[in-house]
Amino acid sequence: MRDRKWGIALFSSFPKAIKFFDTTLRDGEQTPGVSLTPEKKLRIAESLDKIGVSAMEAGFAAASEGELDAIKLIAEAGLRADVYSMARGVTNDIDAVLKTGAKGVHLVIPSSDLHLQYKLKKTRAEVLKITENTTQYAKDHGLVVELSAEDATRSEIDFLAQMFKAGVDAGADRLCPCDTVGVLIPEQTAELYTQLKKRLPNVPLSVHCHDDFGLAVANSIIALQNGADQAHVTMNGLGERAGNASLEELAVVLKAQYKLELPIKTELIYETSRLVSRITDFPLQPNKSIVGENAFVHESGMHTHGILSNPSTYEPFKPEMIGRTRRIAAGKHSGSTGIRASLVEMGLEPTDGQVKEIFLRVKSIGDKGKRVADADLQAIAEVVMGLPPVRPITLEEITVVTGNKVTSTASVRLNLNGETLTEAATGVGPVDAAITAIKKAVGIVEPIQLENYSVKAITGGTNAVTEVAVRLSKGDRKATAAGVNEDIVIASVEAMISGMNVLMTNYNKNKK
Ligand code: MN
Repeated sequence: MRDRKWGIALFSSFPKAIKFFDTTLRDGEQTPGVSLTPEKKLRIAESLDKIGVSAMEAGFAAASEGELDAIKLIAEAGLRADVYSMARGVTNDIDAVLKTGAKGVHLVIPSSDLHLQYKLKKTRAEVLKITENTTQYAKDHGLVVELSAEDATRSEIDFLAQMFKAGVDAGADRLCPCDTVGVLIPEQTAELYTQLKKRLPNVPLSVHCHDDFGLAVANSIIALQNGADQAHVTMNGLGERAGNASLEELAVVLKAQYKLELPIKTELIYETSRLVSRITDFPLQPNKSIVGENAFVHESGMHTHGILSNPSTYEPFKPEMIGRTRRIAAGKHSGSTGIRASLVEMGLEPTDGQVKEIFLRVKSIGDKGKRVADADLQAIAEVVMGLPPVRPITLEEITVVTGNKVTSTASVRLNLNGETLTEAATGVGPVDAAITAIKKAVGIVEPIQLENYSVKAITGGTNAVTEVAVRLSKGDRKATAAGVNEDIVIASVEAMISGMNVLMTNYNKNKK
């Protein structure tokens, strides 16, 4: 089929069924600073299974006892996706995989002279023998073998094909020429897959790309158009250095732009991304494609005006496709239309003159380099519109106990519309305990979710003033707020309560 608008064959060359081999738990876990317990790995595995990946590499069994246990836990969890473990070309590694009960092994053997000489210290002939023997060993023990050539994209193509042939003859089920250091460019990707398909026509091929030049997803698409039918991906593009091809980017571009049917439930992408970010403790850059904080936030006047009359004016696809919503933010680029929309959402009905005045004040705060959270916008609007400030929640008292021998515990007393609420909670630290206690207290009346929490130290020392920014949601409504204090717990509590107040204020109720 031909896309007439562009005059190029966009849809002709993809395989009928594209498979996603997720390696968030192996290559993704190799991200500097990321380390997961078996229980955390299982949580992520379950969410990846729900989203629809066909296979997942749960770890590297020979790396440690904990890693082996994690893979075993995932392999025994009854997931729909096939579970794999990585192994190097040594039988000990494959023995470790066998102890996990995983269905398959991702057998990774270097193929470039650079790796052979400086890392493996083996000759090409020895590598061919290793490939043959270890593949045979894994097959003899009942494993499905995904044979990867490490650094394949800097290898001599004849040797690469020879090594793959040795693997296939020993029973390898699938081959993957890994772009280990992310050096491929799309034209070379097309050439590589065309060549491999010609030399090994009957073996399924995977693609494994790294994002060192920001081309991981582009190269994966080209590979899928030239003979690969499975892409190795990670959630949030986690992975060593610049990361791997990201699951969310590849899935959404294939669905939204190439109009392909995929096994991936894209509407679960946003929640899965947030879960992975939380569990791995790896925050996403705000301008990250698809799942970044700002991907569906509109601030500039021109854009919000367009968005409010028809969202496609400034959105490439509907946020619902990945299970998220758009947000209009107030700031120095805001136009009055966007500000009015935010105020109406808060239940306010400003006159044109009031919108203009609020708009000028928001801009002047923005010009001073400050972020304007929804709670700030609300406060400005109240002043301009002469409304008595309505704050349903006030904090009366909070006590937090923390230490290395005690579980962090917080007790809180709040006033909610004249009624006193007390609640206590434990947490992984003092901030978590305090926020959980507040959420519990307010949750009796209104369930409010904390969607995003970030903290920054404004000055340098241990007495630094901290600024906490939060984004909260109540059903479809969202609100941002900030808290500033020398004490991180108090700054967090202030931000929470201020955001909750935006979501719980109902100006209409006070109107007669
Ligand atoms: Mn890799």
